Amino acid sequence: MKTLQLHVDQLEYEPIRREGSVYEEIEPKSQSFRDVVVLFASVEEKDDEEIVDAMLSEVASSMKRLGADTLVIYPYAHLSNNLAPPIKAIHLVKYMEQRARELGIKVHKAPFGWNKRFSIVVKGHPLAEQFRALSQETLLQRQARPTQQTAAPSVEEKETLHVQMGRELDLFTINPVLGSGMPLFHPRGRIIRDELMNLIREVNLSLGFEEVWTPHVFKSDVWYQTGHYEHYRERMFIFTAKGEEYVVKPMNCPGHAMIYASRTRSYKDLPVMLSEFGTVYRNEQPGELTGLFRVRSITQDDGHAFVRPDQVEDVISRILRAVMYVLELTVRGKIYATLSTRPESFIGDPERWDEATQALKNALASLDMTYEVKEGEGAFYGPKIDVDIEDSHGRRWQCSTVQLDFFMPEKLDLKYVERDGSTQRPIMIHRAILGSIERFMGILLEHYNWRLPLWLSPSQVVVLPVSEKNRDYAANISDRMLSTGIRAELWTEGTLERRIRAAHQLRASLMAIVGDEEEGSSTITLRDYRGRLVKKLGLDVAMGWILNLIKRRALNLGEIDEDLIAMAKK
Ligand SMILES: [Zn+2]
Repeated sequence: MKTLQLHVDQLEYEPIRREGSVYEEIEPKSQSFRDVVVLFASVEEKDDEEIVDAMLSEVASSMKRLGADTLVIYPYAHLSNNLAPPIKAIHLVKYMEQRARELGIKVHKAPFGWNKRFSIVVKGHPLAEQFRALSQETLLQRQARPTQQTAAPSVEEKETLHVQMGRELDLFTINPVLGSGMPLFHPRGRIIRDELMNLIREVNLSLGFEEVWTPHVFKSDVWYQTGHYEHYRERMFIFTAKGEEYVVKPMNCPGHAMIYASRTRSYKDLPVMLSEFGTVYRNEQPGELTGLFRVRSITQDDGHAFVRPDQVEDVISRILRAVMYVLELTVRGKIYATLSTRPESFIGDPERWDEATQALKNALASLDMTYEVKEGEGAFYGPKIDVDIEDSHGRRWQCSTVQLDFFMPEKLDLKYVERDGSTQRPIMIHRAILGSIERFMGILLEHYNWRLPLWLSPSQVVVLPVSEKNRDYAANISDRMLSTGIRAELWTEGTLERRIRAAHQLRASLMAIVGDEEEGSSTITLRDYRGRLVKKLGLDVAMGWILNLIKRRALNLGEIDEDLIAMAKK
């Protein structure tokens, strides 16, 4: 992106005619501004939201220095000969407008795709004219500079840190051509997703959740029944096909409720617990989208428990225990729980509310969890517990939710047969532990700041033959590691030094270096990311040590530790 920023006494423009097929629908009328900053902007081929963010953060700090509060964004194709296609340019220009507004800047945008007559009077001071060129390359170069420990990154930089990591570590990208807020997970990013999902699968199994799969699209009828059509419509992707209306599901609950309702349930069958890694779609405002933190395609580690009132406490306390276990394994930060209680307007029987709220309190107490009570802040359909985690930057993230629901069982007519033969409504518990897998991954990436623990690392061991002669031996090492489930990669191209550097750049956890000496003694040299070496290490010893770290999901970022050194000496 290239911009020319001018601090002006006066700007006037008048849209005359449309330039091409992509333009903004406007009423052409002339506009006039006094004492503003004008930003002529050319969007280039490889630009994305991140570039816009970086550009705006420079513009914002410059405006602060100038004491200016109003920005006129002026799409201007003549600063670059490498322009983005108009459809992308218009998207990014609009995005820029929204982000500027979010930064607290008064902003006006001149229409895109129009020939404009304009006149301008630029102020005479030295900072009145500033040209900027920003590209992914310049951002990368900045990233590559040694990070200063002293200067805290600005909020903008922090927000996009994981997006940079996503691109540089080849984990994920977000391509506005396909859709903002819809991250594409590359093979290496998919590995991290899977590791998180594997952890949750284990937890689900131990809790008694059974995994299901439900479609991504339901007919709109059910969303009328649940009230989403009325209350959540703004955020739903709705479409009509062959005369019938469908909704791309914004949540998984109705699907699970229907599975529950697919047969008669007796009090003895309860609790019925269903889980799903359900990808849901929510049409968040473009301005609200931030990397993986706020996306439109959200994969929840969703679960629904259908319980009798007397089971609430036990089920909740088991779920909360699992929440603590998972957050401890992944983030290891301070945990904050909140209990939101009955609001002014609510549905259902107040006595049942009180019982359920007490059950939640008992569950929290049984785990010795301290919590804050948010009196009256529960949803109208039931009380809930939220669990936040603090990351290494001291930021608090709400991840886990356990929400009681008296309403949906009513709306979808869910029942079970009680011991006395009467028909009762189950209570539905909605729960997510990680919340959104995408968001949780973003949190983890920033929390660990470039280097993930071994169990989450896409490249656990990079096997590097010293020369072409050692290639077969190295391939054998790599195959043996792969066969035990270690993510090993064989790298043979380029000098050893270069491959070591590349492995560092990809944040590979460990390197196994094999030359003639290693081949002759059927061993490897293990190198960690700090450059520490263990020479003549037996392959079985190395694999045993690595597999144990992976299995325990140890907090080891790829560091040779005393355990391994002791094992190597034996
Ligand atoms: Zn739900």
